[in-house]
Amino acid sequence: MLECKVYAAKDLRVSEASTPVPGPGEVLVRLGAAGICGSDIHYYVHGRVGSFAIREPLTPGHEASGIVAAVGAGVTRVAPGERIAIDPSSPCGHCARCRDGRENLCSEMRFLGSASVFPHVQGMFREYFLTPEQRCIAVRSEISLQEIAMSEPLAVALHSVRRAGNLLDRDVLVTGGGTIGCMMVLAARRAGARRITVADVLDYPLEIARMVGADATIRIDRHEPDASLAAQCGEPDVAFEVSGAVSALNTCLQTVRRGATIVQVGTLPPEGAQLPLNLVMQRELDLLGSLRFGNVFGDAVAAIASRQVDVRPVISASHPLAEAAAAIELARDKTRSMKIHLVPG
Ligand SMILES: [Zn+2]
Ligand SMILES: [Zn+2]
Repeated sequence: MLECKVYAAKDLRVSEASTPVPGPGEVLVRLGAAGICGSDIHYYVHGRVGSFAIREPLTPGHEASGIVAAVGAGVTRVAPGERIAIDPSSPCGHCARCRDGRENLCSEMRFLGSASVFPHVQGMFREYFLTPEQRCIAVRSEISLQEIAMSEPLAVALHSVRRAGNLLDRDVLVTGGGTIGCMMVLAARRAGARRITVADVLDYPLEIARMVGADATIRIDRHEPDASLAAQCGEPDVAFEVSGAVSALNTCLQTVRRGATIVQVGTLPPEGAQLPLNLVMQRELDLLGSLRFGNVFGDAVAAIASRQVDVRPVISASHPLAEAAAAIELARDKTRSMKIHLVPG
């Protein structure tokens, strides 16, 4: 079977490896489709994501669907031939945060395709992999493996919406129109948001944002973060900052209405930033963080499987695992691609 590993920045190798055999409680999965995410791009381009540096060869990939190839002893949740979504997070289940129902904050979290712990947790950019059965959710509707693989990014957005609280009849601003920005539009709409505005510095993501239901889009680089912009965004009640750009958080701080909620979803520069944070006090803003996702993965799978949430406009193209490096380069080009998937073969 083929396996993709990043050894260091710009050093990605696709090589032959032996197909693993499932032990008790384990499922052998043949890859369906694996989405290339911003963190995968960072591991490939920089050899690190923020403070998580590659210290041994890492197989990236945490957004995947698959087909059950074989099951180990005692597995009852899924059967060979079934199409599944794979939850990439493995919280410990017994620490204080897990018991609080905030599993995404687990101190022992093992997240697939991440160098956050050593030895690294190997991800799903490979033809076959093993996973515990409790991480598998069978999908029994006729949707594509690429759509099923969007469950993880949708879960990120559903979690952020949960953090924001009630969105019913609220005006929402999303800064950053990439995959997660578009998932935010879908999730906010599902939660009953009134007017959803998406801001980005490129036309292409804004075009897709409109396709998934954004009511208005703004080329934010052509505006000053002032009152006229606030008027155009309708003084949002809630802002989701998805881009990770300091200027975008600045825009959120200055355009939301008094008493609004801002949820930071994107990864801001680790070195810190200069921002008018006094506005948090003056305008009594709730500034919240949102990390990956808590217990909403099954909800994301169900919403996609039923097409209650239609993720198809966000899916750009699929490329074979053997061409992973070229596919990652394409995924970097935000002027012409949104979600790129790797597929076996
Ligand atoms: Zn991701
Ligand atoms: Zn825990």
